[in-house]
Amino acid sequence: MKVNVIGAGLAGVEAAYFLANKGIKVRLFEMRPIKTTEAHHTDKFGELVCSNTLGSFEITTGAGLLKKEMELLNSLVIKAAKHSYVKAGSALAVDRNIFSDFITNTLISHPNIEIIREEVECLNENELNIVATGPLTSEKFSNYLKTLIKDEYLYFYDAIAPIVEASSVDFSKGFWGSRYDKGDDYFNCTMTKEEYDLFYNELLKAEKVPTKDFERVVHFEGCLPIEEIAQRGYETLVFGPMSPKGLKHHISKDVYAIVQLRKETKEGEALSLVGFQTKLTYKEQVRVFRLIPCLRNAVFSRLGSMHRNTFLQSNKVLKPTLELKENPNILFAGQITGVEGYSASSATGIMAGINAWRKLIGKDLLIPPKTTMLGALINYITSKEGELQPMNPVFGLLPDIEAPKKYKKLLKAHRALFDMARFIEENNILT
Ligand SMILES: Cc1cc2nc3c(=O)[nH]c(=O)nc-3n(C[C@H](O)[C@H](O)[C@H](O)COP(=O)(O)OP(=O)(O)OC[C@H]3O[C@@H](n4cnc5c(N)ncnc54)[C@H](O)[C@@H]3O)c2cc1C
Repeated sequence: MKVNVIGAGLAGVEAAYFLANKGIKVRLFEMRPIKTTEAHHTDKFGELVCSNTLGSFEITTGAGLLKKEMELLNSLVIKAAKHSYVKAGSALAVDRNIFSDFITNTLISHPNIEIIREEVECLNENELNIVATGPLTSEKFSNYLKTLIKDEYLYFYDAIAPIVEASSVDFSKGFWGSRYDKGDDYFNCTMTKEEYDLFYNELLKAEKVPTKDFERVVHFEGCLPIEEIAQRGYETLVFGPMSPKGLKHHISKDVYAIVQLRKETKEGEALSLVGFQTKLTYKEQVRVFRLIPCLRNAVFSRLGSMHRNTFLQSNKVLKPTLELKENPNILFAGQITGVEGYSASSATGIMAGINAWRKLIGKDLLIPPKTTMLGALINYITSKEGELQPMNPVFGLLPDIEAPKKYKKLLKAHRALFDMARFIEENNILT
């Protein structure tokens, strides 16, 4: 009984730890330090490539609820985070070196784990494999993946627009309706010329994340950062993503520009800003996008970003068990599955570990309940219709619950934790 785990990042370490604790022999492949990525700086496992926070620990936030579920699942990442915790309000911030040392030492000293420091270029498809090579998967292995799945299902660059919580949007400052009256899937935030002027000028002044060498890409014209479009001239936005085209008959003469919000979930609790992919710093995104009148008090459940990101169209190629449809000996985990962020990447690693274990003991594979954040996220990435864009854990993915609005989140969170605890117990996941 042996499993190959490829990549000792956040997802790979969780998968390896779960399997090894189940008594299964793991070969954990990591190419660093022999070959490194553009963002990693060390040879440590579970390295945090950028920010040193794993986000909120409050169960009424998406990332916080997911972390609680991970804790129930005996997550190594959560153990390491608690071990290396540094004070940062309600956020789980860590000392990144202590964090990675804890993970590395735990896995190196585990009797069931063999560490192999090499770049994996292809898989032995007859063995059981978990691929967790992350957003910066090496080029050779990416090329192999393209042969394994269809070329068009492996995406390389990622431009993410922010997502806001619908409950924080001022719906009195706009109207529902699609362009040319094709349904009412969009909420149109309206702006007068004065409001647009202010927004435009602040957008031009706003601080951007510096572009690293490896990110110097020629963006597709249809996927330009919003601030780059703005730089081309005062009116480019109103003839682009902020155009009132096809909606004019709905709006009064004083409306100069609109911002469309699109439902990200069936219930419409999470809304994305259409065409607002951006490289502004997180702080500046909040400041500038709140100048859009209907977003004055917006709560952002995801902020925009643009960085190299190798990810699958999991909705086309993966089963909800994280197995590759074409070859069930290969499971995927981490950011490469189309989830976004440290916690989501780690959590899918645990789930891939669980299903590799189930395969080896000849039991049915498991799908976590959709009422849990982990289950909702996996359901989203494996069943989303159309094109999949990376998604992080947001409350809008969870099924609705009957309760007064102000209690909904708390009740959803408690339901999720109860269902996760039952899922773990009923399937002997930790025993
Ligand atoms: C530049 C950048 C900044 C980010 N910043 C943040 C942030 O601040 N906050 C946040 O929540 N998320 C951030 N993310 C997103 C994401 O959460 C992290 O990338 C996270 O580390 C993903 O976890 P993972 O396990 O999927 O991949 P990783 O943690 O990257 O792990 C993948 C591992 O696989 C190894 N590997 C790759 N190819 C091979 C191969 N062929 N053979 C052997 N080993 C291989 C890599 O060396 C790496 O150790 C960022 C992503 C990028 C690219």
